[in-house]
Amino acid sequence: MDTLKQRLIASLKSEGPMNITAFMTTSLFDLTHGFYPTRDPLGAQGDFITSPEISQMFGEMLGLWCVQSWRDMGSPAAFNLIELGPGRGVMMSDMLRAASLDEEFLKAAHVSLIEASAALQAIQGQTLAKAPCRVTWVDTLADIEPRPTLMIGNEFLDCLPIRQFIRTTLGWQERMVALAPEDKSKLIFALNPLPHEHEEIAHFPNGQIGDLAELCPGYTQLTDDLKRRFAVYPGRALFIDYGPASFEFGDTLQAIAKHQKVEPLDDPGNADLTARVDFEHLARMASVPSKDERGLTSYGTATQAEFLTRLGIKHRALTLTKSSPANEAKINRQLTRLMSDDDMGSLFKVLCLQSSSLPSPAGF
Ligand code: SAH
Repeated sequence: MDTLKQRLIASLKSEGPMNITAFMTTSLFDLTHGFYPTRDPLGAQGDFITSPEISQMFGEMLGLWCVQSWRDMGSPAAFNLIELGPGRGVMMSDMLRAASLDEEFLKAAHVSLIEASAALQAIQGQTLAKAPCRVTWVDTLADIEPRPTLMIGNEFLDCLPIRQFIRTTLGWQERMVALAPEDKSKLIFALNPLPHEHEEIAHFPNGQIGDLAELCPGYTQLTDDLKRRFAVYPGRALFIDYGPASFEFGDTLQAIAKHQKVEPLDDPGNADLTARVDFEHLARMASVPSKDERGLTSYGTATQAEFLTRLGIKHRALTLTKSSPANEAKINRQLTRLMSDDDMGSLFKVLCLQSSSLPSPAGF
């Protein structure tokens, strides 16, 4: 069977250049050859590692944050706990273990997982086989019953396909994936000759010739859903991901395979493709009222280190060390990876979006 690259080349020959969104969507989610549906990319043996895979303390802090958030909503007798892109299910498993200090919370929780990859869904099923509350998998947010809601996503937003635009003398021109004119087996970046006129790019600061701006169409769908959902019942969503606190120009599309950076166009389907999250844009879109609903209130961004410190991760590390002194060095190494400025502590940010009626969330 043709590889994904061969299929993309055939499509570029017949249809012409595709935008980065189309390229990312196919490379990441194509059912037969896409990166996520065909493997477990997480962990030391895989392609990349994430905070919950580094340390159980990460999920535990988020579990406590959820219990506090549920109480902030008035401890509703039934609520949704939704996770977007749960990876191997490790974070949810750690969250529920930490949250089991409140039996009522577990009784009230309806856990829904949204996962694009069947391979990862199967692993989540194993990890959560003994979960202390009901867990279901759904395809989209629309499949989840309206109820008070807590939503959480770690390294989910960075997988959402982006579009890229470059400022030229003509205006903003979209960056596309095309075939190299001299070698039709090679993928290259090329500009759409026509400038892009739509209103979505109006939020980019003016920009100098040569500046590259990124836009994530998925934010619209996500924030529209949250506004609708949180207008009917109280809700709070928490996103943890890498990106700057405010908008910056620059090409941040990156490809990682086996823990190494590789060229994004070289081997589609075999490398993870991500882009920095534009938290400023996401918070602004969430705050704008839509036709019928009020905008959401946002908190943050806080850096991952600030957020976890406020939730008490250092106390948790001490407790773990006391109960298992032999693991002290390991626990401290894990803490440093999550918290230090040279590692994930400040590159990763936390943003909370919620119904305006709720009090301030913990951690900000
Ligand atoms: N949250 C996990 C995994 C992060 S990797 C952790 O921190 O370890 C990104 C995850 O999001 C994977 O599980 C991937 O399959 C999933 N994913 C990416 N885009 C998605 C989408 N549009 N819908 C559902 N799941 C998605």
